[in-house]
Amino acid sequence: MNKLSNSLAQADIATSLHPYTNARRHEEKGPLVISRGKGIHVYDEHGKEYIEALAGLWSVAVGFDEPRLVEAAHKQMQALPYYHSFAHKAHEPSIRLAEKLVEMTPQGLDRVFFTSSGSEANDTVVKMAWYMNNALGRPEKKKFLARIKGYHGITVASGSLTGLPYNHMDFDLPAIPVHHLTCPHHYRFGHEGESEAEFTQRLLAEAEEVILREGPETIAGFIGEPLMAAGGVMPPPAGYWKGIEALCRKHDILLIADEVINGFGRLGSSFGAVHYGFTPDIMVLSKQLTSSYMPLAAVVFSEKVYDAIADNTGRIGTFGHGFTASGHPVATAVGLENLKIIEERDLMGNATRMGARLQEGLRQYADHPLVGEVRGAGLIAGLELVADKTSKRAFDPVGKVGLAAFEIGHEEGMIIRNVGDTLALCPPLIVTEGDIDEIVARMGRILDRTQ
Ligand code: PLP
Repeated sequence: MNKLSNSLAQADIATSLHPYTNARRHEEKGPLVISRGKGIHVYDEHGKEYIEALAGLWSVAVGFDEPRLVEAAHKQMQALPYYHSFAHKAHEPSIRLAEKLVEMTPQGLDRVFFTSSGSEANDTVVKMAWYMNNALGRPEKKKFLARIKGYHGITVASGSLTGLPYNHMDFDLPAIPVHHLTCPHHYRFGHEGESEAEFTQRLLAEAEEVILREGPETIAGFIGEPLMAAGGVMPPPAGYWKGIEALCRKHDILLIADEVINGFGRLGSSFGAVHYGFTPDIMVLSKQLTSSYMPLAAVVFSEKVYDAIADNTGRIGTFGHGFTASGHPVATAVGLENLKIIEERDLMGNATRMGARLQEGLRQYADHPLVGEVRGAGLIAGLELVADKTSKRAFDPVGKVGLAAFEIGHEEGMIIRNVGDTLALCPPLIVTEGDIDEIVARMGRILDRTQ
């Protein structure tokens, strides 16, 4: 059916500018209008069924029709649809969710600040670090270390931390002092003949060299996704995070784990930091926090950070930061219920078990002529397509083949994501063995049809 004859599609083309979309192409092509969801599936306006193999935007843990979340939202809407937490106000859902997050996150993360998006949360992290260092009498300690291909959002500060060209180009970013270190992805960024262990050592030496060159007294924080997700699903080399943690401790740099995608079982462990065995000072959470049924994110941080900030609010008179929707009661009520479901149904355990099946299933495509690397952990995976397997030569232009595969995915009834020429999978945590086998089979058909 020609989408342009459809009135919803026409209205969309006539009125909207879409995020992460080529607007001129969209005017010709029109949208895929999704109208309902059930389990791991979504349905378009014509009733066609798709496996949502990216869980929306790497985010729907419990599936697309969880009645308990609907009920939690409904009850909270009736009791108190909105209130805020400015100026000493509070309400039960945000208090309860903060308690739950302190309980679930690793030891030492004892304080919570809520925002509505991951980008706002990372902006909050930047501002907290600056505020803290001013309070501690070290106003020059303001720079951030991040990584090429890292993704931390798109607002002015979070977009500056992000290390992807599309998020900087023509937006005049970075706009805050940030140094992007080498992407910790051995397949693409390792030198010819360099072992993974040597690669790790090179990255750690580079990080320390930058810290010493800039001066540790100027570096406020190191931010990273434990497993880099939106930039192309890139697990770090062994030993990387332990090494980064040691550098941060040595030079008194805040270690910030951006767990917006990694958090709540995605990698088959509770959190990415737990998976890779390090302890951050600050953790950023969102997406699976509410299964994205409501917009919500959280910055969870140590008592040490809290104390420095709290002392300063005492001196200044207030913490001049916060959003109208910080800790929104409906969003936090939904988040609490969502986390209860994740625990009661052992969805993190399911992610471990189904994740192993997914990774094993996809590894059969390592021999496919188009596939350069199959990678991932738990229920997140990437297949990087290359023009030449031996030399790892990328397609020219990068992204064309990935886009073709993404569109074939729609025809095959599976929504995936193309990041350049890497095809990303990140299905809901509720997947069954049968679902995994179907996802792997459809992936094989997509690869076979892509050229
Ligand atoms: N941080 C990470 C690791 C993300 O993956 C994302 C979004 O994908 C963000 C931050 C930004 O979150 P939001 O899109 O809610 O602003």
